[in-house]
Parts: sequence; structure tokens; C-alpha cells
Amino acid sequence: MNRMSVCSFIARDKKIMIIEDNCITLNQLRDFLDEYGYRTIPCKHPLEAMDLLNEITPDLIVLDIIMPDVDGYEFCKWVRSQTRLKMIPIVFLTAKTRLEDKLEGLGIGGDDYITKPFSMEELLARIEVILKRLESFHEISMRDELTHAFNRRYFNERLGEEVHRVKRTGRPFSAVLIDIDYFKRINDNYGHYVGDSVLIQFVKLLQSSLRKSDLVVRLGGEEFILLLSDTSSGKAYLLAERLRQTLDEVTFTYNENGVCAEIRMTISAGIACCPEHGEDAEALLALADKALYSAKSSGRNAVKIAIGK
Ligand code: GH3
Ligand code: MG
Ligand code: MG
Ligand code: MG
Repeated sequence: MNRMSVCSFIARDKKIMIIEDNCITLNQLRDFLDEYGYRTIPCKHPLEAMDLLNEITPDLIVLDIIMPDVDGYEFCKWVRSQTRLKMIPIVFLTAKTRLEDKLEGLGIGGDDYITKPFSMEELLARIEVILKRLESFHEISMRDELTHAFNRRYFNERLGEEVHRVKRTGRPFSAVLIDIDYFKRINDNYGHYVGDSVLIQFVKLLQSSLRKSDLVVRLGGEEFILLLSDTSSGKAYLLAERLRQTLDEVTFTYNENGVCAEIRMTISAGIACCPEHGEDAEALLALADKALYSAKSSGRNAVKIAIGK
């Protein structure tokens, strides 16, 4: 097989822990998976692996069964009992070839069971099936169904990471909370489908106005938040103002199922910046919300920056 031609797209930053007490097999597995671009974590002893799992969360574990102190079955049960680790796929790789051994391995939560002697290519193919499926699940779980903007769950994860990054690097990020003005009227006047279509078109407009590194998030309903890395409050204000003005000029159209509508709408926005307005994720969101409220009470179609720390 031409290895370079199959050099894995799925590998990217994926971490595979290999737990195998036979040094020769361990090294072969490590070399092979390294070659395909995986980041391997080879462990010769299951206790060493348990130790490492306190700090590392691999994307998949290749697990031998016959090992000293803790066998592969016990190890698998332990992983499945740990909140942070229990969803990690486990592929057994073992000399135990009897049907009852396989059934036991799969029964305690192994995702696959490969017997020795084995083919590296087959192991790789099985690993990739699992990782690809997980990646699609992950992609689905972080997006909003209607607009395909990122969802609140993913936003919360990323917000935490951004706050950490600011503490480490001192470089700011800004959050721009956006609420569409009088959106209910669009539904009332044209119907819910038209409202949905406007939300979808609005997200496309936001995405095309931002950098790749910025996040467009639908918090719910007609409320969105932009997470702008490396962006001061001043820069975020300019961007939000530009968006506000664009919205002031754009006409969204809907022409489906015999319904034809041209919709104009405005937005209001509140901005909070880390570290300028604080370094606590929830407090920052509360400040952005307050600024948004102030934009709404000033008559809507406005952008406001948070005040104070
Ligand atoms: P304001 O300027 O004060 O924000 O007024 P508003 O009408 O935008 O705000 P309000 O909170 O009163 O109404 C929000 C509306 O958004 C009501 C709800 O029906 C609509 N909405 C929420 N989610 C969706 C959705 O997924 N699709 C559609 N079409 N409408 C939605
Ligand atoms: Mg062994
Ligand atoms: Mg609104
Ligand atoms: Mg709202």
C-alpha cells in the first residue's frame, strides 16, 4: 500500500494512546501510527497509562488484554467508570482469540476487538472508521440546527479557553452580543418560515463579515454572540458598527412556496472585552448583556460598549 496516499486526513491532532506490554509490538504500533500523522502516547504498563490519563484525554485507546497488574478488561472497565474518560473509544488488540473473550471485551464497552497476529492496515482502517464517526458527531453537537452557527454549548467551551488564553498571553478578546430588533414583527407579518430564512441569511452575512478565527454563535432565538480573538473593545466596536450599518442597508429576500417577501431589519449590540472589562466569563457576558440592554433602551439600532470592570 502506498502510505503517503492514505496519509490520514482524520489524523490531524488526534491523540492515540497505545497500551501494550510487549515492547516490540508497542514500538511497531507507535511508528506506524506516527507515520500516518497521529500523536501517539505509547504506554508499556497499564498503571503508567492510568497515571497519564489524569492529565491527558486521548481521542482513542488501543488496548492489549494480557498485561501485568491490571489486564485490559479491568482497564477498560476503569476507563468506562471515569466521567471525563468514559466516552473514549477503545480498540482491543490481543492474543485472546476465543469467542467468549471477544464477547467479554465488547460487552464491557470495547468499540472493536482485533486479534493477534494482526494487520497494521486493518487496525488503522478500524481506528479511522471510529474517529470519523466521532468527528461527525462532534461537528453536529457544536452547531445550531437551523442556522449552522455554533451553539451555546460550544461557545461556553471556547469562552473558557479564550479567558485562559488572555491570562497566559495578555492579548484581549471581545464578545459582541447581538439581538435583532423587533424580530417578532417579522414572524407576525410574514410567518415563521420567513423568520427562519432571515435568521439563516443573517448568520451567512455575519460569517462572511468576520475572520476565520472568529466565532459566530447563536445563543438562542434571535440572539447571537461573536467571539473575536485578539480584538480590543475599540476594534470590536468598529466591527459591530460596520455590521449595524450594513444591516441598515441590506434587504433580505424570501421567495418560496408562493410567498414573496423583502425584509429590512436592524440590530442592537453590546460589547465586553477581556481583560478590559474583567476576566470572568460569566461576568463578561453579564456586562455585554447590560450594554445590549442600554443599546435597546437608547432606541435600538445601536452599539454600546460595557462600562467598568
Ligand atoms: P427586541 O427589539 O426587544 O429584541 O424585540 P424582538 O421582537 O426582537 O424580541 P422578542 O424577544 O419580543 O421576540 C423575539 C422573537 O423571536 C419571538 C420569537 O417568536 C422569535 N424567534 C425565536 N426563535 C425563532 C426561530 O428559530 N425562528 C423564528 N422564525 N423566530 C424565532
Ligand atoms: Mg500483553
Ligand atoms: Mg430582538
Ligand atoms: Mg431577544
